[in-house]
Amino acid sequence: MDKKRKRSRSPEKTSTERRDKKRYRVEAITPPALDINNYQLVKKLGEGSFGKVMLASYAIKKQHVALKIIEKEKEMSHKEIKTEAAILRLGRLCPFLIRAYATFQTESLVLYVMEYARGGTLHQLIKQKGYFRSHEVRFYSAEIVVGLQFLQEYGVVHRDLEPENILLNKEGHVKIADFGLACVHEFKGSKAYNGISGASGYMAPEVLANTAYNASADWWSFGVVVYEMATGKLPFSPDGTSKKQLETIMNREPYYPERVRPELCDFIKQLLKKDVKQRLGVCANVQDHPFLSSVNWRNVKKLRLEPPLKPRIVSAKLNLAMALSIPPELT
Ligand code: AMP
Repeated sequence: MDKKRKRSRSPEKTSTERRDKKRYRVEAITPPALDINNYQLVKKLGEGSFGKVMLASYAIKKQHVALKIIEKEKEMSHKEIKTEAAILRLGRLCPFLIRAYATFQTESLVLYVMEYARGGTLHQLIKQKGYFRSHEVRFYSAEIVVGLQFLQEYGVVHRDLEPENILLNKEGHVKIADFGLACVHEFKGSKAYNGISGASGYMAPEVLANTAYNASADWWSFGVVVYEMATGKLPFSPDGTSKKQLETIMNREPYYPERVRPELCDFIKQLLKKDVKQRLGVCANVQDHPFLSSVNWRNVKKLRLEPPLKPRIVSAKLNLAMALSIPPELT
């Protein structure tokens, strides 16, 4: 007698019903990446406007990730959280943006699981070196430009571009991070009243004046970052109220040390045009400026340019003092 028994299939069930049932069963299981218990916190990497960023080890893949932890009750609105999560998903499509592997929530926290940029920040690299030479400025500028132009393709204005938010991977390539203040314009290039937002010293005059703005604001902040790479300093004083900062910007021109090459000087001057309509990035493509004319953009996008500076790799060892400041829910 044949002992094998075939599972009988109910004749009334259509194949679609069977597929739906199967799909339902799959969805009912929480994927390991979305389970907080699969992450072991190692140390604090930094603190942004809306939450902590922790280095964590993802047990399933034995991989280090950066975990951004936002307390739901804090100032960040539901819309802002959704915008940041959506932009982090875009990171899969551009090598110069930090990407998210997963986003999930618990009762009181929102968590973004992000790739871990282990080369530190551009801010640390500038501090370490004092200032960059022309070819070094060109390398970082080119990678940031590709990242910013990619965001603009999707109507995204970062609004908080500064060296602390420009991270480096272990090879030294750029990874733009922190989309907590970013906004999305429905129509690419349109302007909106988005309020005064960003880091002191990096905000464009139109932002400080609380008028309508768009990606022009990011090109100004980029100009400040380029100035900082070339000189180690900020072009305008970041002190005082927004009104005072605006006054300083409108009445003064930055000082350019003699060692800053004329093409680089002009590049910064075109980005720091106080009149939005005359600003590089708005009136002309940044890629076409003579300072960047030698750049092979295809190679930049394929990560073929050799980073000129090796970042200091941040240790992934447990830091107990930092671990003590972990939210109780995660311990
Ligand atoms: P944020 O809240 O995104 O501004 O992050 C605050 C700080 O955490 C940054 O300035 C970095 O020093 C650090 N950080 C954020 N995201 C990452 C990441 N993906 N990898 C490594 N460090 C990060």
